[in-house]
Amino acid sequence: MKISNYIDVLNIPFSVKLPNDKSLERSVQMYILVGEQLALIDTGVAGSEKVIFDYIESIGRKPKEIKHILLTHTHPDHIGAVSAIKEATGAKVYVHAAEQAWLEDTEKQFAERPVGGFHELVGGSCKADQVLHDGEVLHLCHNLTLKAIHSPGHSAGSVSYLLQQENALFTGDAIPVKGDIPIYDDWAQSLASLEKLENLPFPAFVLPAWDSPKTGKDAEEVFSHGFDMLYDVHQAFCEAKDEVGLADMQAVAASMITKLQLPAQSMNPLFIRSVMSHLKVR
Ligand SMILES: [Zn+2]
Repeated sequence: MKISNYIDVLNIPFSVKLPNDKSLERSVQMYILVGEQLALIDTGVAGSEKVIFDYIESIGRKPKEIKHILLTHTHPDHIGAVSAIKEATGAKVYVHAAEQAWLEDTEKQFAERPVGGFHELVGGSCKADQVLHDGEVLHLCHNLTLKAIHSPGHSAGSVSYLLQQENALFTGDAIPVKGDIPIYDDWAQSLASLEKLENLPFPAFVLPAWDSPKTGKDAEEVFSHGFDMLYDVHQAFCEAKDEVGLADMQAVAASMITKLQLPAQSMNPLFIRSVMSHLKVR
C-alpha cells in the first residue's frame, strides 16, 4: 500500500511457536522506499521475498532495483528474508554495530535470545555491508536521504531512520504499543530512546514495524502512548514485586499481565525477558 510519494508499506503475518504446541500470531510492517533506486526498511520473515518482489512488480518497478536494505534491528521478523533478498538483488545491507554479530551469525542470536520457531522465521545469516552508528546520514540516491538514529532498549542495536525528503520516521520496534505485549531488553534504555525520538522535529509520519503507519494526531499519540505503556509496566512490576516477591519471575510476570490486562499469550519467554530488565531499574 502506498503511504506517500516515496513510501510503500507491506504487512507480513507470521507466528511464533510457544511451549505446549501453542503459537502467537503476529505481523510485521516492512517499508519500501521508492525513489530513483529502491530501498527496504526490514525484510519480514523467511520467504517474504516473494510477496515483496510481487509487490514491487505490481507498482511497475523491478526487484533488481533494490539497492539497499536498512535493518531497524535483527530480530527474526526483520531479518528473515534478508539473505534471500541480498542474494537475488545484490543489495547493500545496513545494520547497527551492536547487532552486526546477530545478523552475521544467526545461531549466536538464537543462543542468546531463543525464540520459538526461530529457524522457520530466519532464512539464514547475512554479511553486513555497512555498519551504522548514531547520527550517520545515508545518501542512498539523489531522492532518498536517511539519518540513522540509534534507539536501543527493545534491542541493543535498534535504529530508527528519518527519511529527510518526507520527514518520515521509521521506528522499528523501538516504541512500545499500548495494550500489546511489552518486549524489550532494557526498560531504561527504551525510555531514553523514546525521549530522544520525541525530541526530534515533529515527524509527518511515524512508521513502526509492529503497528500501522501513523500521521497527524495519531503520530503524536504514538509517543505519549509509548511513555504511558513504559510507566504502566514499571508500576505493575513494582506492585507485583511487593506482592509476590522476586523468587519466582513467572509469578511476577503473571501478576503484571493481570494488572495490565494484557492478552493471555503475553506469558512467554520474551515477556519474561522484558520483566527481568526491570530488576536493573533504580
Ligand atoms: Zn524486535
